Amino acid sequence: MDILVSGAGIAGPALAHCLHAHGHRVTVVERAPAPRPGGWAVDFRGRVHLGVLERTGLLPLVRPHATRTGDLAVVDGAGRRVATMPAAAFSGDLEVLRGDLSRVLVAATREHTRYAFGRRISSIEQDPDGVDVTFDDGSGGRFDLVVGADGLRSAVRRLAFGDDPGALRPLGLFGCVFSVPGTWDDVLYSEPGRSVTVASPHGRDAVAQLFFTLSQQVYGRERATVTAAFEGAGWRVPELLDALSRSDDWWFDEATQVVLDRWSTGRVVLLGDAAHAAGPGGNGTGLAVVGAYVLASELASGDVPSALARYEAVMRPYAATCQKQAAGGAAFLAPATDRQIAQRNRFFRLMGGLPPLRRLFARMATRTATAVRLPDYQWPGSHVVA
Ligand SMILES: Cc1cc2nc3c(=O)[nH]c(=O)nc-3n(C[C@H](O)[C@H](O)[C@H](O)COP(=O)(O)OP(=O)(O)OC[C@H]3O[C@@H](n4cnc5c(N)ncnc54)[C@H](O)[C@@H]3O)c2cc1C
Repeated sequence: MDILVSGAGIAGPALAHCLHAHGHRVTVVERAPAPRPGGWAVDFRGRVHLGVLERTGLLPLVRPHATRTGDLAVVDGAGRRVATMPAAAFSGDLEVLRGDLSRVLVAATREHTRYAFGRRISSIEQDPDGVDVTFDDGSGGRFDLVVGADGLRSAVRRLAFGDDPGALRPLGLFGCVFSVPGTWDDVLYSEPGRSVTVASPHGRDAVAQLFFTLSQQVYGRERATVTAAFEGAGWRVPELLDALSRSDDWWFDEATQVVLDRWSTGRVVLLGDAAHAAGPGGNGTGLAVVGAYVLASELASGDVPSALARYEAVMRPYAATCQKQAAGGAAFLAPATDRQIAQRNRFFRLMGGLPPLRRLFARMATRTATAVRLPDYQWPGSHVVA
């Protein structure tokens, strides 16, 4: 089949990899002018994520980029350590920077996939046999299938399914990630309603992650919003805001879940965040890669309507479980009061002293990541049973 994918983040190139293995011709359009760097670390955990990476041959490409982030020092305004956040409990089995992962996936697929950067779909029209698409440069084409892997604010979703404001469920938590020149110690600093994490994976330039809660809806996802939210913050936050003002890889969005009553319409289907964004702590990257594998495997039957229905039947309960886990993320990532911050720090101290508690916590997170039973798909050229 000739398949068009919108979005070259994580889900898009992962799908290009799987579709190529099954013999399809793939075109990926990405609105950014080049693969987008940036983002915090994302993790894969448990046998489902790692099994899919292994089976698709992606694991050896991703593993060398593992961050191996150590424990985070939880500091007060004067930079004194008041607790330690044990990394092992939070960072999964394989943690990589999101930007590294996206770059690796695009590089692995570039030879056989037509990437068109700086381009987006402007219209979609379909009949039972195919989809006619026009692009914003005036060109167009006809495809057997169009996949929206264009993230939380998917344009394919808007064009093919129509706007449904009820589909987006904001979690009241905002996240901003950007790189910071120089290396920093791995640190977590919190004030009521706002938290900062800085780390220097691979000993390279640091990455900062700022979380904050706001009661009112924020319009416009601009740096000024972040700067205003952290006005007057202590510790080394002013240095970080200065770095943000000069950063060219910053990412900022409101943690939002996407809940749709269907993921496909005719020959247009959604994948990854476009279909089921979960928010932080919801295995969004693992879901994107597993979903790509499931979609490509189901399409191997050649019967598009039933493949799309089966893809959704496999992935929907899995995505819903992950969304449930992420729904409480705001309280954990940006505790609202001094009391809640102190409670969280006590929990970290308890974890530090009790390895069984640490293991229990990690096991609970892994249980969500493995909450799916994948059909026994045949990966082209392999006879291994997952
Ligand atoms: C730059 C960036 C940084 C991120 N950082 C974090 C982070 O720190 N923590 C976290 O939890 N999640 C982060 N995310 C989201 C995270 O990558 C996803 O939740 C998850 O990996 C699922 O991936 P996805 O491919 O479905 O979506 P995404 O990774 O969001 O990829 C979607 C891609 O589609 C592209 N796109 C959007 N609209 C269009 C359009 N109209 N036409 C063509 N292409 C389009 C985007 O530029 C992007 O490359 C980030 C996303 C981006 C784009």
